[in-house]
Amino acid sequence: MPTEIPPRHIRLTSHPGQSGGGAPAIRWGAPDAIERGPIVGTTTNRSQRNVIGTHSGSYGVYRALAVAAGSLTRGHRADLTNTSPTDAIGPYPQWGDAERIVSIDPWGAAVASVYEPYLEQGYDIRPTIAVTKAHIHLPEIRHAIAFQRLAADGRVLLSDASAVVTKVALEPVWWLPGVARRFAVSEADLRRALFEETGGMYPELVTRSDIEVFLPPIGGQTLYVFGDIRALADPSVTLTARVHDECNGSDVFGSDICTCRPYLTHAIEECIRGAQAGGVGLIAYSRKEGRALGEVTKFLVYNARKRQEGGDRADKYFLRTECVAGVQDMRFQELMPDVLHWLGIRRIHRLVSMSNDKYDAITGSGIEVGERVKIPDELVPADAKVEIEAKIAAGYFTDGSAPDDSRLASVKGREFE
Ligand SMILES: [Zn+2]
Repeated sequence: MPTEIPPRHIRLTSHPGQSGGGAPAIRWGAPDAIERGPIVGTTTNRSQRNVIGTHSGSYGVYRALAVAAGSLTRGHRADLTNTSPTDAIGPYPQWGDAERIVSIDPWGAAVASVYEPYLEQGYDIRPTIAVTKAHIHLPEIRHAIAFQRLAADGRVLLSDASAVVTKVALEPVWWLPGVARRFAVSEADLRRALFEETGGMYPELVTRSDIEVFLPPIGGQTLYVFGDIRALADPSVTLTARVHDECNGSDVFGSDICTCRPYLTHAIEECIRGAQAGGVGLIAYSRKEGRALGEVTKFLVYNARKRQEGGDRADKYFLRTECVAGVQDMRFQELMPDVLHWLGIRRIHRLVSMSNDKYDAITGSGIEVGERVKIPDELVPADAKVEIEAKIAAGYFTDGSAPDDSRLASVKGREFE
């Protein structure tokens, strides 16, 4: 039985001047961790908080549910024994540039060491980044070995066809002034839209302009690194990289209406090959399901595409999304390069992506890109021709010619069975 006495009233954090003065200041972009100040998103001791929102992205809602259901004690503090990163990352010069990284906390993996003085004083500081190691088994990689495109080397690729990786999970930490500048909007307009369009979920967005950091309730990112993660920051080491946006239907379930999993596994094969040749490979996977429109919207669009007059056609591909969602895409690649700068990356030798939005965001942020690697034609599922041709016509990278209007209109997808 919990012995904790429930509070008599709800403590609001939406008005200034009521905290105990124990919240550390955040100086975003300061090159030193202590000078920058820790991110304190705990709900345990509210006087220590210096952010809007809380940890774990969208999973914070499940934590609240667990508290409501009585299965989690309010104020539980994480025991972080033995949780430190398997590989040290940084600090890199990019960490000390406030405008270079605005959507993640560069010190988020190292809080236990760099904020030890705060932890000793009782501050509840949680990592927003975790670094671990794994072996990954993929049927496509076994296939690549069977067809002698890859061979086990006992280092990057083991004899059981598993690949050795370092993997990193990152939660979003938004510095609102920097995020606003990235989108060329005023901070006030950004705060107001975030407040109003989440149904008023975070009143501090509009009442606490003194709090500049927001932990948004959205999905984060996962990195898979092949080879030495520290080599990512060395522009003389050949880097093969793919920045991939989540597509549950294809990535996990093999749905054939798009190229997501075939392109992802092709990129992993390229990353392994590159790491075996003395380079390093990176997959940066963002939780932005269905162009960040969500899977319900995505499936509605599939229906609208398949049922429209003339069937599923490449020349109507973007129009059908826009009809349902109001926009063609909500992924907004503007924040995506932050994680590359966090890793110290200055040059991507081989970018395994055809997306012009991603290419423009990466190069526009100051990272050089060498070769762009398209998905091999034989890996494009028949029903995904609609998507890939529509994207090439809209500006995706190709080594062939972009389809003209008549060719685009002739690319058709399967009908519902
Ligand atoms: Zn997909």
